[in-house]
Amino acid sequence: MFVGHYGPSFLAKRLDPALPLWIPFLAVQLLDVFWAIFIFLGVERVRIVPGLTETNALDLYYMPYTHSLLGALAWAGAAGILYRLIAGSARGGTLVGAAVFSHWPLDLLIPTVVLAASVQSVTVRFREESSMRTMLRWTVPVEAGNKGIHNGAIAKTIEAIMASLKPEAAYFLAEGGRRSGMVVFDLKDPSEIPQIAEPLFQQLNASVEFLPVMNADDLKRALAKVSG
Ligand SMILES: [Zn+2]
Repeated sequence: MFVGHYGPSFLAKRLDPALPLWIPFLAVQLLDVFWAIFIFLGVERVRIVPGLTETNALDLYYMPYTHSLLGALAWAGAAGILYRLIAGSARGGTLVGAAVFSHWPLDLLIPTVVLAASVQSVTVRFREESSMRTMLRWTVPVEAGNKGIHNGAIAKTIEAIMASLKPEAAYFLAEGGRRSGMVVFDLKDPSEIPQIAEPLFQQLNASVEFLPVMNADDLKRALAKVSG
């Protein structure tokens, strides 16, 4: 939300004192209100392009209904007519329409700061979504496993894994005659891999694998992308 948008609403109020101030206040932001709704519904779209500009990573690449010239004119006309019908004021209707439309050229003036307020929340969400569901599998040689049982290294290492990764699933099994385990967790950054793997290597002599995996929801989204 850009503070400059509110300038025209004070002007409208001055030109028609009968106009309740909240109406031009809403009018100048109406396109963004609909924009937010359309983004939510997936009718219009944004994407994150890290480093797009210094202050804003949001690429507003698809918003033809709210932020095109034609779209802005249509919303302005509709809002103006609606106010005119409800309030019975032609002057008020014209001012409301003009206030709605004023959003459009003002957005052009300051295209990248308009949504600065929402950038942060979207970016945070994007980061959360950008972690990778990963399966960590390890297998401990029999000898090292025997030793690890006796000196507590197995218990300690597995406890540490459970505490630090907070896996969504964890299974322990005998694979090919050796003690094995697998956990599914969110890998936030590949640079975490050594930190996770080293205790398994060093304490248990284990062989270790990291595999990107999908759950059923991930698969559904993936299939939609593949077929679309
Ligand atoms: Zn806008």
